[in-house]
Amino acid sequence: MSYDQENIFAKILRGEIPCKKVHEDQWSLAFHDIHPQAPVHVLVIPKGPYVSLDDFSAEASPQEIAGFFRAVGEVARKLGLPAKGYRILANNGRDGGQEVPHFHVHIFGGRPLGRMIAVG
Ligand code: AMP
Repeated sequence: MSYDQENIFAKILRGEIPCKKVHEDQWSLAFHDIHPQAPVHVLVIPKGPYVSLDDFSAEASPQEIAGFFRAVGEVARKLGLPAKGYRILANNGRDGGQEVPHFHVHIFGGRPLGRMIAVG
């Protein structure tokens, strides 16, 4: 699957669409999800054009991968989540329920999060 430069997160990265920014560095941007599914629901995206975790893990440089995952932990700390705990999730492809074709990690927190995945 080739990268769609018009996907919504590409537009956010280019500043064409606003976001509620939590963190930005050389490798990543983090912002609040527009339809939060927990008291804290933040998305972390790499700045490079990667469709999915599959694409990112295969094609990104070691620096991009390290920078991105350091940012995920940093964002969680910035949000005060480690003390009580939190969850990260990356939907990948159709069966994974991925809607936006730019790799992103969800960070959920702020309440007990229950079962790992919905049953059925
Ligand atoms: P996924 O199903 O993993 O692709 O998740 C995509 C997420 O992006 C969903 O949780 C949406 O609510 C969120 N989303 C879509 N558009 C925006 C936007 N403009 N700003 C923030 N979050 C968004």
